[in-house]
Amino acid sequence: MSDNKNRDRIETITIFCGSRSGELPAYIEMAKSTGLLLAERDIQIIYGGGKVGMMGELADASLSAGGKVIGIIPSFLCTKEIAHDGLTELLVVETMHERKLNMQEGCQGFITLPGGLGTMEEFFEVLTWGQLGLHQKPIGLLNPAGYFDPLIEFLDQMVAKGFLSKQDRKMVLSADQPENLLDQMLNYSPPPVPQWLNRSTT
Ligand code: AMP
Repeated sequence: MSDNKNRDRIETITIFCGSRSGELPAYIEMAKSTGLLLAERDIQIIYGGGKVGMMGELADASLSAGGKVIGIIPSFLCTKEIAHDGLTELLVVETMHERKLNMQEGCQGFITLPGGLGTMEEFFEVLTWGQLGLHQKPIGLLNPAGYFDPLIEFLDQMVAKGFLSKQDRKMVLSADQPENLLDQMLNYSPPPVPQWLNRSTT
């Protein structure tokens, strides 16, 4: 597999992030700089469609820099997360499952920004699907002010204690700057085979 497998191939990135803004300004700043960078690089964003918290900051930053942003939101969350009304496209679906499937299928890579339980659920789902070989897309964590340090430590603990292969650990890219993360995603090579089928490579 070539080192630059994804180069010129990432046209759309799905972003998972909090419906809240969190305590530190660094989190919102990261949402804004990610939105801006992707607009500058002409990379379309797919995200949860909300107007609140990190989600709203990300969408507004990209849109105001001329980027394309597609929101996918289940109808029952339109009020709670306040569906963004200024997006390039807003897809209102029936269920969370439909939302997640659309968010996964329409992109060539995933970025996770700080968030809570929903963000983590989405992050781990795409990671587990990658582990099963159901997709080969890069998955990145953007880590402002060390927010994800305990998670990264825990992933390393999974490897150290024999519950995650070293190969699959490498699926999780991380950086504290969006430019750096995007470079890693463009140069990403996925694990060669589903590791659960081939335990000898762990
Ligand atoms: P949170 O990180 O909890 O603020 O949630 C961020 C996003 O994840 C929001 O758009 C939530 O609607 C979404 N979300 C919440 N719970 C789930 C779940 N169980 N599965 C998938 N997405 C979820």
